[in-house]
Amino acid sequence: QAKAKGPGGLRFFSPEMSGRARERLALEADLRGALERREFSLHYQPQMDLRSGELTGLEALIRWTHPLRGNVAPAAFIPLAEECGLIVELGDWVLRTACRQIRRWSDAGLAPRHTAVNISAVQLSRGRLLDSVRRALDEAGIPPEQLELEITESFVMLERELSFQSLADLRALGVRLSIDDFGTGYSSLAYLQQLKVHKLKIDMSFVRDMMNNSGNAAIVRAVIALGQSLGLEVIAEGVEQAAQARHLRELGCDVMQGYLFSRPLTAEDATTFLAGAGKSTLTF
Ligand code: C2E
Ligand code: MG
Ligand code: MG
Ligand code: MG
Repeated sequence: QAKAKGPGGLRFFSPEMSGRARERLALEADLRGALERREFSLHYQPQMDLRSGELTGLEALIRWTHPLRGNVAPAAFIPLAEECGLIVELGDWVLRTACRQIRRWSDAGLAPRHTAVNISAVQLSRGRLLDSVRRALDEAGIPPEQLELEITESFVMLERELSFQSLADLRALGVRLSIDDFGTGYSSLAYLQQLKVHKLKIDMSFVRDMMNNSGNAAIVRAVIALGQSLGLEVIAEGVEQAAQARHLRELGCDVMQGYLFSRPLTAEDATTFLAGAGKSTLTF
């Protein structure tokens, strides 16, 4: 009832509307033109093999530079883009931009094995994602194995019928599938195995205080063991401390991502990082 719709679907700010609702509407209105105004960019966060110390992949993370507000966090605008349907167009832009960047890195001999892109549940359920992914790959001329799609565990588990066929189609296309925020979504193990994904990403919330919260440490250990027994790669996100990295390595975790190794970087800085990737000096 807070969103008053006028004729032609126009929305008006009514005086009784709460400050927050008004704020959301203003942000949503800005979001609609932001693609055309080229206010979005992708940053890339490196992922590191815990045994060899090598860079194995990158995750593309969207950034919005609002002309007045400055940087707006994805957590603040992705949900809005999902609600108003804009996420389909935005997600398409993310895919095309990431694939083009992968191509540039490949041409320079710098491409990591995989570059991951976050996929919204809305894209999967009504975005013709398969076509969008195929087009992005074709346009950039890159092999599908270089692209990894991150889908959150909660969506996969809540929308089984919907997700199963789409994920099977994407897998058949040859892209890699990764389950994001793993540990938060009550996975069914049988279902996980049927899905044949490639990678589990342990949610940051478990990694953050695994060193002093035995419950979270137990979850981290269980996810690693699960990944190993199903033959999946396991990556921990949000690794900030050397002690966490050491412990994860001892537990048999394959890959880590977090500020300890690198923050998300602009495309330009990521290129520099990739060029020096063989010489990683991080030890823990
Ligand atoms: P996510 O996919 O789980 O991404 C990980 C988030 O953790 C990123 O936040 C990243 O910057 C942050 N992070 C990485 N390492 C550390 C660390 O060591 N410590 C801490 N405290 N944080 C770390 P970001 O970029 O703000 O993105 C937040 C969420 O927004 C993402 O969570 C993802 O769900 C969503 N998102 C980001 N980019 C896209 C996109 O292109 N499309 C869609 N659909 N969603 C996106
Ligand atoms: Mg992610
Ligand atoms: Mg995540
Ligand atoms: Mg997360």
